Formats: sequence, C-alpha cells, structure tokens
Amino acid sequence: MFGETLADALAARGALLDGHFRLSSGRHSDRFIQKFRVLEYPVILEQIAVELADRAEPYGPTIVVSAAVGGIVLGYETARQLGTKAIFVEKEDGVPVLRRGFALGPEDRALVVEDVVTTGGSVREVLDVIAAHGAQAVAVGVIVRRQPVEFGVPTIALLDLPVVSHDPTDCPQCASGEPLTEPGSRFLLRHPERRREAP
Ligand SMILES: [Zn+2]
Repeated sequence: MFGETLADALAARGALLDGHFRLSSGRHSDRFIQKFRVLEYPVILEQIAVELADRAEPYGPTIVVSAAVGGIVLGYETARQLGTKAIFVEKEDGVPVLRRGFALGPEDRALVVEDVVTTGGSVREVLDVIAAHGAQAVAVGVIVRRQPVEFGVPTIALLDLPVVSHDPTDCPQCASGEPLTEPGSRFLLRHPERRREAP
C-alpha cells in the first residue's frame, strides 16, 4: 500500500482532501491533509508503522521519540514494530520537554517519528530535546513530507506530497470564486470567534 497506493489509502479515508483550503499559515491551497483520518485506523497505521520500522531499523534505533499529540500513536506503533520504548515530547508553558518521568541519556539512539512534515518545526523541537538530554538522534521517519526539509540526520518519508499554496491575493481558486474551507484546529483555536463559520 505504499508509494502511489499509500496516497490512495489516505484519500480513501478522507485524509487527503481536494478543495480550496485556508492553511494555518494563512495561505490558500487546493489540498489539505487531515492526518487523524488515517491515524484513527489502527490497521492502516500498523502497516505504515511496519514500513517506517523496516526502513529505520538499519540505523539501530533503541527508542522512538515523537511529538504530542499526532505523533504519539504513530510513535507507539512504530516502537512496537521495532521492539523499543516509545516516548513523546510535549509542551510545558509553551516549551517542548519530556514529562511523565520519560528519560533519555547518552546510551539512547533515537528515531524521531512524525505524521506530516511541512516546515519541520515540531521535528526540530523533538531533536532539540533529544540533544539536550545527551542522546543521539539516528533518523527521522515521517508518513508525509510536504516540502524538502533537512534535519541533519537521515530522513525517511513514505510519501512526498509537495504543498502548493498561494497568497490569498494571488489565488486562482479565489479568482474563480470557489468557496473557501477553513480546516484545522489551530485556526479555530486562534480565532474562536470564527468557530461557527467553519465546516
Ligand atoms: Zn483562495
């Protein structure tokens, strides 16, 4: 189910939407990835994790580290396939940290997993936490990569789906009068007054 067929699997479950979307960056795009439409299917997630684990295994990871919230289930299942622990980074007062007694040390070889990577900000936060604990990151594994990103370690991407976006003032879909959809919780969190306008 990989390559073209992973895209089909995502599309079939509503994880890959075509339309006219306002991204969290404010730019407009004709494609939106609703990652929880695939993360909510354990059987599909397992197949994805098997592929990530197979491709990450040569790097010898001893622990999987992901970012809350979306990365938690993917990290857990990938670690299950590798036979390692799974821990996650979360924010405390806006700062990414390990909580809940999770530990990392110089003996750890960490595989970072993330569902969708665009600018790579959340992966970099996890890499910083790993480095701050003196551990070594050996690879990054992602389901979907939306643009080229460099993390300083080998990156495994199961699917490359380059994001095409436009400034609202220069958007061909706006120009043709297509109604705009505003998906994604981040937009709603920042603009709760607009909640009723959202689909
Ligand atoms: Zn537009």
